[in-house]
Amino acid sequence: TVDIETNPYKAQFPLFQQHPEIAFLDSAATAQRPACVLDAERDFYQRMNANPLRGLYSLSVEATEAIAKVRQQIADLIGAPQANEVVFTRNTSESLNLVAKSFAPTVLEPGDEVVITIMEHHSNLIPWQQVCRKTGAKLVYLYPTKTGQLTTEEVLAKVGPKTKILAVGQVSNVLGVENPVKNLGKLVHKYGGYLVVDGAQSLPHMPVDVADLGADFFAFSAHKAMGPMGIGVLWGKMDLLNAMPPVLTGGEMIDSVTEQDAVWAPVPEKFEAGTQDAAGIFATGAALDYLVNTVGYENIQAREQALVHYLMGELMQLDFVQIIGSIYWDNHHGVVSFNVKGIHPHDVASIMDMDGVCIRAGHHCAQPLLTWLGVENLACCRASVAFYNDKADIDKFVAGLHHVWSTFNG
Ligand code: PMP
Repeated sequence: TVDIETNPYKAQFPLFQQHPEIAFLDSAATAQRPACVLDAERDFYQRMNANPLRGLYSLSVEATEAIAKVRQQIADLIGAPQANEVVFTRNTSESLNLVAKSFAPTVLEPGDEVVITIMEHHSNLIPWQQVCRKTGAKLVYLYPTKTGQLTTEEVLAKVGPKTKILAVGQVSNVLGVENPVKNLGKLVHKYGGYLVVDGAQSLPHMPVDVADLGADFFAFSAHKAMGPMGIGVLWGKMDLLNAMPPVLTGGEMIDSVTEQDAVWAPVPEKFEAGTQDAAGIFATGAALDYLVNTVGYENIQAREQALVHYLMGELMQLDFVQIIGSIYWDNHHGVVSFNVKGIHPHDVASIMDMDGVCIRAGHHCAQPLLTWLGVENLACCRASVAFYNDKADIDKFVAGLHHVWSTFNG
């Protein structure tokens, strides 16, 4: 059993030191950063600032090596066979766009199908709408049960010989459910298609092994995993990345250039045009090291599960709260969406803010899901936890909900 009353982590986060009064329950939007990550960003500029790849002097070489080291670290973390399969982008959205804009047109023909779920974040939905429109492929949706479970019948009815790409979020940012990615991968591969995994909400909370998942591409953002904003990762299988054209062109991504032509640099540089956020990449290394080696996935999972268990238990006792998705706490990976009866989510979040409780309210970049679920106003509230939360945060949140209810019904 995990003691969620004591919290050894908050002291490591400068923001919580600055704002001891807040209960931060919006880590699914972006996580807080520990001091070691802020230090790393500064350390880069203070100790090794130079443009990586360009210089032959030792400072630039050091910067280049620092980035290479983080690439290797990420490859090791996600079980990628080669460090060069790790492409740096700005965020998950850019990573998924890269797959949809570069890879997808090379395999899609009119009549082919791209399969996604109705619970996808817009980042894993709009790029597919776009490429389907361009190529004449059809965008097909998997609809889970109202509690977020993808049934075998639904999957078998939708995934078949026409499926060229199946793109799925490993964990939903609204329902908090984990999708059966491994099984989906096996099925789509049986038909010769490819599996794209949106790992934005999974990698910060659970160990990921791309080989075990059977993924062909895997995307995530550093900022949800204690790292800086503006750094994303796309991992892809080397043979697929090799065959893909670049989307952005210019400096750093070429081997040689003549007046009328250019030869691309090898993967991953081919996809990394221009000067990268080297300090951000360096700090991402510090963030993932903190996440995996200082805190550790085992602790993260045990603590987040205990927090969600407690949170769901409290919510279930409030008859004015409607939980969206499963009522079972173990179907929620750090994320619980809900509405307060008759009160607009924006009002809920604003009143909670007065009490120092940070939750998200809105459509959560998943409008088709909220439409399909029939959620009023296409908006809901979302509380999401990370290992640095504690029982006091949740107690504050529950007190905030009572405050909301009494404000409107007092
Ligand atoms: N996919 C999922 C499941 C997400 O939760 C998010 C972020 N809310 C994204 C993609 C997009 O991430 P980013 O904004 O970092 O591109």
